[in-house]
Amino acid sequence: MEKQILLDLTKEELSQAIKPSFRAKQIYNWVYAQYANSFEEMQNLPKAMRADLEERFILNPLKIANKEESSDGTIKYLFELPDGKTMESVLLRMKKEERDIEGKLVHHAKYTICVSTQVGCKVGCSFCLTAKGGFVRDLTAGEIVAQVLEIKKDNNIAPERRMNIVYMGMGEPLDNLDNLAKAIKIFADDDGLSISPKRQTVSTSGLSTKIDALGKMDLGVHIAISLHAVDDDLRTELIPMNKAYNIQSIIDAVKRFPIDTRKRVMFEYLVIKDVNDDIKSAKKMIKLLSGIKAKVNLIYFNPFPGVDYKRPEPKDMERFAQYLIDHGLLATIRESKGIDISAACGQLREKELEAL
Ligand code: SAH
Ligand code: SF4
Repeated sequence: MEKQILLDLTKEELSQAIKPSFRAKQIYNWVYAQYANSFEEMQNLPKAMRADLEERFILNPLKIANKEESSDGTIKYLFELPDGKTMESVLLRMKKEERDIEGKLVHHAKYTICVSTQVGCKVGCSFCLTAKGGFVRDLTAGEIVAQVLEIKKDNNIAPERRMNIVYMGMGEPLDNLDNLAKAIKIFADDDGLSISPKRQTVSTSGLSTKIDALGKMDLGVHIAISLHAVDDDLRTELIPMNKAYNIQSIIDAVKRFPIDTRKRVMFEYLVIKDVNDDIKSAKKMIKLLSGIKAKVNLIYFNPFPGVDYKRPEPKDMERFAQYLIDHGLLATIRESKGIDISAACGQLREKELEAL
């Protein structure tokens, strides 16, 4: 019998797979809250059960194949899957200053982990390195969950430490909707990693029908839309799938999506020099997003060998952002985190493949 990945199972599924079922809670606790690396360590389980679990399940499906740390503290991981395929995740650490009860300034890090949902991607965006390698396969729920667990362990991050998850690594999350939904639930389990859906953001290139499907599940996650262009011709050039799911269909789907009324929908806009960095585009964006509680994140295009697009000038980036702000749209410029280790998706894996 082929072994099953333990992390693929929700607690309910695990409780159905083992006897007696109440042990599922204990196993979850060992795996996610005590960082157990073997079944042998799970001392409060009967010996026979530990042996049985060992025979049936893979505890950890990922191996760290490579790791690069940027000068700004960003760490990029290349993980190897059980079938030898590779994908990557990024740990972002942002320093936060807060005052404690005595009014003293305390510094602590805010952790965000960027996870992959597929090996490769079918969407084929012209600016994205992940797209160049084509589509290989979907990740299972457990392979998505394991990225966060392994990064927490590798950095000695306390199990109870709060963190955020963004589905912005390799792949289109909504093209792997069932496993994505399962991963969201496993992350949120109180006996597990306990990362509330409110702290999870699904980034999508805009499969409108799947945005609706995710919304119907009512999981409480946030969405981020990779907009990148405000007219359909240009957007189709950048994201070929825009032919099937055009800008208006995405905007309509966003309006139907159940959103926490205190929160905003994030629109990501990858800025490419002389392609979409003009004020005319900013003007169109104001119109397009009117009526949506939106936040725009402007991202510097990160060039890679073989691509003609260029990084925008900081002054054009700022002019674009300022125009949006002056017209009442919340906008920020995303720092290029980890630029010295090419933290934009797909780039570490690509380097590794070249070296083979
Ligand atoms: N497929 C989903 C999520 C993964 S892509 C989506 O497209 O939204 C994650 C992010 O990487 C996207 O916001 C995309 O804009 C960004 N990205 C891709 N290629 C990039 C590049 N060359 N430079 C900077 N960001 C890039
Ligand atoms: Fe896929 Fe996102 Fe890259 Fe487009 S940007 S190819 S949707 S991973």
